[in-house]
Amino acid sequence: MKSFRYLFLSVFVLAAVYCRHEPPAQAADLVLINGNIVTVDKDNPRAEALALKGDTIVALGLFKEIKPYIDKKETKIMDLQEKLALPGFNDSHVHFFSGRHAFLSFSFDGVTSFDEIQRRVKEKVMEKWDQEILPGKKWPAKELLDEVAPNNPVVLHRICGACALVNSYVLRISGITKDTPNPPEGAIVKDPGTGEPTGILHWKAMDLIKQPQPSDKESHEMDKEAARLALKEAARCGVTSVQDVPGSLATSHPRVLDRKIAVFKELLDEGPLTVRVSVGVPLTSSPEKIKDYKEWKRMLIDNHHMLKLGATKFFIDMTLGSSTALLAEPYKNDPSTSGLLLMAQEELNDIVAMYDKEEFQMAIHAIGDKGVNIVLNANEEAVKRNSRRDSRHRIEHATVILPGDIPRFHALGVIPSVQPVFGPSYGQTIQPFFENRVGTERTRYTNIWRTLAQANARLGLGTDWPVGSLDPMERIYSAVTRKSISDKTGGARLPNESLSREKAIEFYTLGSAYASFEEEIKGSLEAGKLADIAVLSRDLLTIPEEEILNTEVITTILGGKVIYSSESK
Ligand SMILES: [Zn+2]
Repeated sequence: MKSFRYLFLSVFVLAAVYCRHEPPAQAADLVLINGNIVTVDKDNPRAEALALKGDTIVALGLFKEIKPYIDKKETKIMDLQEKLALPGFNDSHVHFFSGRHAFLSFSFDGVTSFDEIQRRVKEKVMEKWDQEILPGKKWPAKELLDEVAPNNPVVLHRICGACALVNSYVLRISGITKDTPNPPEGAIVKDPGTGEPTGILHWKAMDLIKQPQPSDKESHEMDKEAARLALKEAARCGVTSVQDVPGSLATSHPRVLDRKIAVFKELLDEGPLTVRVSVGVPLTSSPEKIKDYKEWKRMLIDNHHMLKLGATKFFIDMTLGSSTALLAEPYKNDPSTSGLLLMAQEELNDIVAMYDKEEFQMAIHAIGDKGVNIVLNANEEAVKRNSRRDSRHRIEHATVILPGDIPRFHALGVIPSVQPVFGPSYGQTIQPFFENRVGTERTRYTNIWRTLAQANARLGLGTDWPVGSLDPMERIYSAVTRKSISDKTGGARLPNESLSREKAIEFYTLGSAYASFEEEIKGSLEAGKLADIAVLSRDLLTIPEEEILNTEVITTILGGKVIYSSESK
């Protein structure tokens, strides 16, 4: 009997060994080889090859371990040529629908003086034409603009400013037709053949131009077009997940929100939705809207993890730059104010506890130390009322923190969702910027990412796009150097608060995934997780600091499919 048991055991052990080393049942769709793969998985931090099937990673490790997944007929091979590959970036705080407007308007990026703002505006508004130097001195007509701008209002003044060329869109919204009479001291130029307005409006006829009020349908189309541009930008930046948060009051309007959900849903259904989106919603006290949120939460599942309802966003204060972030002590540059409190503690307690009970995640914007303190208090109260749950409420920005509040992030399970943006306007003067507002002593407690991480807080990293660019290299550069991206010679700000490169990458991938309850399915490269991968031109972990900004994304893979390749640009 005894020997029989031994035999049984040895067969079992053999079977286990056999299973571990034998070829898998199915061949991979794609195998990445010759890689320097940083997995962000503590148990298995590096790999040289990775096999994926459908949208999921099936195995990763040494080439000899992955080789059995290669089927000559079925498996595509991608040679990474020893480049660094890592989980696709997950931006924990973007304004996706405002970000896309950055493409449709013009930019003040890198502007450091009032003159420059004026110059750029002038450049735009002074873009004037003169038929005298056009071929045949011919007057231009609306068709010229309609072709390139069918859905936007365009008004181009002639060099003299006394007349303008407008497109059909402007004529339509202004109700200017062939039957519109000329106003006194003005003229609507009409085509001698058809009688239709040509688009040229002289002097007082320009007063007929109405401010555009796009219809819901037009707004929807504009949003969709802009979202497509934003998707392209995300793919170019190796960003495979974004957490969209409502920004200003205007973008929190219920109609805007409904449209946003509809646009994402359409992109999901019709394609191509090439970034996973967690759609944040604004705080509401309307029972109907809360019902909508619950309905969306139910509706936005079973879509291969492409689209989900995100956190409920709310503002407790505003910004340091405008002296409206709520500070524990008055502003140094304006002692008459300590900033703005947008909701009293008791009311916030009730709201957070209510949303918490309904299993909604809160993402509350708090920049000043008193603002952060009030939000932490509300979280503490929610734990008291509802008992401790895995709520993962977030504080967006958490820029200034009272020393006593540092351990409370971990204790309450509150996530600091931070954006390592040291904007160009700070540059070398970044230190005075904070000192001017919060004073020398409290400046020590601004953007304390390393301290928070050491206190076991789980950070999510992002850009606040379009406040910062969507490019993760800029954020990683600022996170590890504590320097401004536009003024690299300027000194590092509180260098002791820098993150290691490994930590910056971890927070930008797994940390952000945790911040949206998705760390089980993405954020690191592990068998069974989604195959969202970014391949970079440089080894982010070993190159000199200054080279981080020159690092480019070579390939972006989302759910096993290549959605961007720098070679096919
Ligand atoms: Zn924001």
